[in-house]
Amino acid sequence: MPEQFAILAVPDEIFERYRQVNLIDGVRVPAKAALDVINPATGLVIGQAAASGRAETGAAVASAKAAQESWAQLPARERGKRVTAAARAVLEKAEVIAQVLARETGKAIRTECRGEVAVAADIVEFYGNLGSELKGQTVPYNPRMLTMTTREPLGVVAAIVPWNVPLVLFALKVGPALVAGNTVVVKSSEEAPFATFLMAELLMQHLPAGVLNVINGTGKDCGAALTGHPDIAKITFTGSEAVGEEINKVGAGRIIPVSLELGGKSPMIVCADADLDKAVTGAIAGMRFTRQGQSCTAASRIYVHDSLISAFLERLGAQLDQLVIGDPLDEKTDIGTIINARQAARIKAYVAQAEATEGATVARYGTLPPDAGLSPDLFAQPTIVTGLPDDHPCVMEEIFGPVAVVSGWSDYDAVIALANSTHYGLAASVWTRSLSLALDSTARLNAGYVQVNQNLTIQPNVSYGGFGRSGQGKEASLEAMVEHFTRSKTIVMNFD
Ligand code: NAD
Repeated sequence: MPEQFAILAVPDEIFERYRQVNLIDGVRVPAKAALDVINPATGLVIGQAAASGRAETGAAVASAKAAQESWAQLPARERGKRVTAAARAVLEKAEVIAQVLARETGKAIRTECRGEVAVAADIVEFYGNLGSELKGQTVPYNPRMLTMTTREPLGVVAAIVPWNVPLVLFALKVGPALVAGNTVVVKSSEEAPFATFLMAELLMQHLPAGVLNVINGTGKDCGAALTGHPDIAKITFTGSEAVGEEINKVGAGRIIPVSLELGGKSPMIVCADADLDKAVTGAIAGMRFTRQGQSCTAASRIYVHDSLISAFLERLGAQLDQLVIGDPLDEKTDIGTIINARQAARIKAYVAQAEATEGATVARYGTLPPDAGLSPDLFAQPTIVTGLPDDHPCVMEEIFGPVAVVSGWSDYDAVIALANSTHYGLAASVWTRSLSLALDSTARLNAGYVQVNQNLTIQPNVSYGGFGRSGQGKEASLEAMVEHFTRSKTIVMNFD
């Protein structure tokens, strides 16, 4: 069994525990090099994570490969029970995981981090309960023969996660992969690895050594070594479109399945008959302003019927002004910081482009924190841009920051066409009291996750995944586990 440890209660002790190590074969294994991890809210280095390369990656894959057969031979329900027990162990340490997450991501502890830990544990538990559902079929081929399909694990799964919601995305990959009988090597995000390591080590207490391994490093040195490893049977990736495209090519070259959850530019259509208050609250939730807009599903293109747009903007601005921007660890804070200087500069460049556009209006809400001890450049105000042409980069491209574009509309067919005009297709929402409008628009919107009168985030049991360049494959559901983490074998028995 993996190394047992008493979980430490203080984030600094956690950072120390994971200094320059990977989690391989149930134990912490030193890596040859280290990467600084920075708290974006203070600019201070909080720890050194492993900077893994080919050697460390190879060791993790070897461990997962050695553990796979006996893990797959456990009854599926038994695997599920262990995964469920592991998920509960995570919840017992939820607060310290959330504290670590807030320090490495700059996300507010109250509005974001605690919820993320709870959702991540819930997703793993959800999958733990689905062990019995790994069913095949019997086929009416010949009444004197038994023809059936079974679902088998794929082998060693490579799971690569980004920094914005690392725990939820880790859970969406690790939960179904393990329950389906695969073993896993996770590459954590080098920007925010420690909460992932802590959650993984808590899970590992309930799993045989080698079933779950976590390595950290850059995409170039560690991620690419993992996806290109010959013993990987499946890649599941969440991250940017550019890296997703590269990984898809790697998978194609090796002829292994690849699931991709990539970017988005999700439209929100507010119809003339919408409940305005609900739509305003939904826009704030949908834009993930409390996550600094750093969400692939962010409702960042908001189309409001001309009859409502003035009232919508007024109420939206008033509510955004109430959100407190500040120290992520302060219980009063709603909005923390952008993850790093590169991302903050990218957001600023998009806003500057909007400001330089004739006819455009850029409105910023809320107050930046006065505390000089905090990283001033990484705090960003919720920003609403109006008056942009429909093909402006701020309308067509993912900004991944707290910037939403609001436009008016009067022609229903035209607004559906605009909603479908980017190359993404992750999510969309429609706000109306009319069932026929809801049915028509949800059928016509080109997005994998379409909601009416709500803008919720990922929910266990509800399939989530994009169309177009937002990715391929689904997550969060039974369907996702069966389709993406197992293979179907056809067996024909002839005793005639
Ligand atoms: P990123 O693509 O830069 O990195 C994601 C992960 O991939 C990191 O762990 C990184 O180290 C690794 N990586 C980078 N290059 C690699 C390579 N060549 N081979 C293997 N791994 C490599 O993304 P990010 O900046 O961490 O995250 C933000 C992006 O993630 C946004 O574009 C966002 O839309 C996307 N995202 C999508 C979803 C979704 O569910 N669709 C959810 C969250 C984030």
